[in-house]
Amino acid sequence: MSQVRVRFAPSPTGFFHIGSARTALFNWLYARHTGGKFILRIEDTDKERNSDAFLKVIFDSMRWLGMDWDEGPEVGGDFGPYFQSQRTELYKAKLQELAAKGRAYEKDGAWWLRLEGARSAAYDEHLKKDYEKVDAAPMVLHDMVRGQVARVEDRDFVIFRSNGEPVFHFVNVVDDIEMKITHVIRGEDHLSNTSKHLEIFKAFGAKPPMYGHIPLILKTDGPGKMSKRDKGALIEEYQQRRYLPAAVRNYLCLLGWTPADGKEVLPIEEIIKQFEISAVHQSNARFDERKMSHINAQTLRTLPAAEFATLARPILLETKVVDASVSDTRLAEVLGIVQEKVISLEHLPEFMGFFFTDDFKKDEGAMANLTKKGGDPVARIRELLPALEAAAWTEPALEAAFAAVGAANERKPTDYFAPARFAASGQGGGAHLLGVLRVLGRDTTLARLKAFIA
Ligand code: GLU
Repeated sequence: MSQVRVRFAPSPTGFFHIGSARTALFNWLYARHTGGKFILRIEDTDKERNSDAFLKVIFDSMRWLGMDWDEGPEVGGDFGPYFQSQRTELYKAKLQELAAKGRAYEKDGAWWLRLEGARSAAYDEHLKKDYEKVDAAPMVLHDMVRGQVARVEDRDFVIFRSNGEPVFHFVNVVDDIEMKITHVIRGEDHLSNTSKHLEIFKAFGAKPPMYGHIPLILKTDGPGKMSKRDKGALIEEYQQRRYLPAAVRNYLCLLGWTPADGKEVLPIEEIIKQFEISAVHQSNARFDERKMSHINAQTLRTLPAAEFATLARPILLETKVVDASVSDTRLAEVLGIVQEKVISLEHLPEFMGFFFTDDFKKDEGAMANLTKKGGDPVARIRELLPALEAAAWTEPALEAAFAAVGAANERKPTDYFAPARFAASGQGGGAHLLGVLRVLGRDTTLARLKAFIA
């Protein structure tokens, strides 16, 4: 049995964004890779900024992304409670423990951690007078991602405020000790806190966990860090846009990590097998929404047809693209040609609505393109119609018909594709054209081509 115990320790003070999700995911992957435990701990000591609504979003988003926790809220475990707001007595007792050891003292109503040896309170006074001339010994941290990092912690710091509330650094370390956390994987924004955390571990005489600080996620353009307000930043958005959770999770894995063989769209079992914390990049990751949607499209393509239909049916019913009278067989035929082209389930209604009604929407941009490209689309359809009327309704026969019309009129067969697509579907793009015509059927296709000429 692996001894690895990692935790995700969110503060429920805002919506669940991709940075938090990625931190949770790297911890989860590490636990699943090593056969260790993944613990969820809620750092809700800041009473004014916490809310139950944010808490619910954390649970929902983690479950949606398939990140199950082995210990924590709603699951239990031997080291609970897993809400810091329910651990106040423990923090007070732990403070007393440090006070009894002489490692915590009261000053101005607050409690301070007394640094060891040369870095003491007296020394602190001395530093204030003559800071530049003193070299405090740096503390070297061996970070799993960053390698060796040197930090100086040269002043005593507050661990309990004068209002009686414990400081983040203190509760974070007390809980990591009590919950027997072996590895701390968290955002690089916490690197600067780590020397304080190590000092608290030392004061307790406890062995610190291994730390790994993962790179920031930068916004798509510019140097800034992705913020909660940036488009694409919240996990909820992807739920609303009907992305596949597996695709979102796959994309998040790539924000700071690359699979060894460079193949980026992978089943989660494969990612778990390959994931190494030491291989996480030191350089910042950049959010790329196009890549995310590409991975969503790729993942949709890998689904078994029946599963794709199960996901598609309720969306099509809800948007009234189909009603209950449409048979499963007919739906399967249409979905069969759509699955390989659609980017997100969200687009299905506009992508395939024309299969189920003659009163379909005509994309004006696509129409403008047809005429702009020089040709006369009506003339093309006139030339095409007799060849299609004569064709057997299979994809090879339809392909041959387009080729024959092209040859007879000294044009490329593709000159007929866009007009035919527009006449049949009202669109400028979509699923493979020959497949569209085949599934649309002979009668419907010919009727629509004639209507277009008229
Ligand atoms: N509550 C802290 C945060 O949300 C956790 C920091 C840590 O993982 O140690 O950033």
